[in-house]
Amino acid sequence: MRSSGYSSKRDYSPALGSLAARAPWWRRAHGPLVVAFAVAIGGGVALVVHESDSTGDTDAMATVEVAPPQTALVRREAPSRGITTASLNPISTAEAAVMHEVPDTAAPAAEQALEAELAAPPEPAEQWLEMLVGKGDTLSGLFNRYDLAAADWMALARLDGAGKRLSRMRPGDVLRVAVNDSGRVNKLHYALDELRTLNVERNADSAFVVNEQVADVETRVAYATGTVTSSLFLAAAEAGMTDRTTMELAAIFGWDIDFALDMRVGDSFAVVYEELYLDGEKLRDGPILAAEFVNGRRTIRAVRYVDTNGDASYYTPGGDSMRKAFIRTPVDFARISSSFSLGRRHPILNKIRAHRGVDYAAPPGTPIKAAGDGKVIFSGTKGGYGRTVILRHGSNRTTLYAHMRSFRRGIRNGARVKQGQVIGYVGSSGLATGPHLHYEFRVNGVHRNPVTVPLPRAHPVAKEQRTAFEQASTPLLSQLDMLVEASRVASN
Ligand SMILES: [Zn+2]
Repeated sequence: MRSSGYSSKRDYSPALGSLAARAPWWRRAHGPLVVAFAVAIGGGVALVVHESDSTGDTDAMATVEVAPPQTALVRREAPSRGITTASLNPISTAEAAVMHEVPDTAAPAAEQALEAELAAPPEPAEQWLEMLVGKGDTLSGLFNRYDLAAADWMALARLDGAGKRLSRMRPGDVLRVAVNDSGRVNKLHYALDELRTLNVERNADSAFVVNEQVADVETRVAYATGTVTSSLFLAAAEAGMTDRTTMELAAIFGWDIDFALDMRVGDSFAVVYEELYLDGEKLRDGPILAAEFVNGRRTIRAVRYVDTNGDASYYTPGGDSMRKAFIRTPVDFARISSSFSLGRRHPILNKIRAHRGVDYAAPPGTPIKAAGDGKVIFSGTKGGYGRTVILRHGSNRTTLYAHMRSFRRGIRNGARVKQGQVIGYVGSSGLATGPHLHYEFRVNGVHRNPVTVPLPRAHPVAKEQRTAFEQASTPLLSQLDMLVEASRVASN
């Protein structure tokens, strides 16, 4: 291979700056393809940056010669963790010789001129490093390991808009830094997520400045319909849905449908959702926008609405929340060991006594969650109940959690709790034959069966947002109508 834009003259003119940095290699499908070669000639190193577009046009060839040799393109090895250098790895002299015919003689005068130039202070060469963040890594630790200037991590750590984010790096994150030959960082790129990159550069005064680059993501609307023959996951997969969107679908309808117990053959669903594309390639699914689930004779619909605070939730077409104000079972992975009943023989007292709650057997220490948003009105020991918490939810409902091994820190009288928040742990305090949660649900002071009591929905769309909700949901619901209609026509 021959690079036509390169001449083999021994011109060690000062570096023109790093073209590689101006035409960054990490710029994926956006920019022209960048191919960089490092060529060693007569002890010097030249960096040839070859930019071509996808048509293979080689006109835009640029040559940058970097001097002196000992400072340019030195592969830095990190002592403990792997390092991937940018695509600027020097190639061997042999390979370079194949590419370029190097004159084997040079005029002594030219050599003297060269030596004079080499003696002059070099323009800083620049090299891109990829630093992989490991477990427990900090910015200072990484800079240390890669032999970068401590002054730079200190400046970065103090830098508004960058310092905090760099302090929250996670294992697997990658920092890309452009480093000169004295270990000073000129640029830094840090992918915050799949779409956003934090870019730090030096301004004219050599001070770091920050900007955030957001990838241009295209949103497309996608549709899926399916009918359950064995499981929701299978039907959804057949309909081309990803696991992620299927999980989301199950979560939206999970308040109304028990997907383990209530599913029937012939149940069907229709989903309108987003797909996110970057540079024409699918990145991942976006949120479900609207969905319908037919479970037996019930047809349940949900639509996504982002309120004026920016909070996204799913609502019924009428504007009620899809969520319930209470979760049905306050412990996960538990089985009912004793049901609600108005008369049974108490196992310890051996008397006929009503069991006004439900018992969930679970290993000691299993977290117990608050069934709904509320306030702690009792937290302490209560006779045979042992360690007990009582929560008040709104004006007329209370829930009670008994036989706890211990309370979660901060769960004391008057404390506010959120739905799903852990309030304590399963134990067998008080009169209990084994570790379990005894759970009671009262409405207006009357015990109700926690397994069957109708649960109110969470907050509906706020009154002042009804108009906005209707404007946003109407087109989504008509897309859902059309989708359901189309699938009906197709299956008939
Ligand atoms: Zn009980």
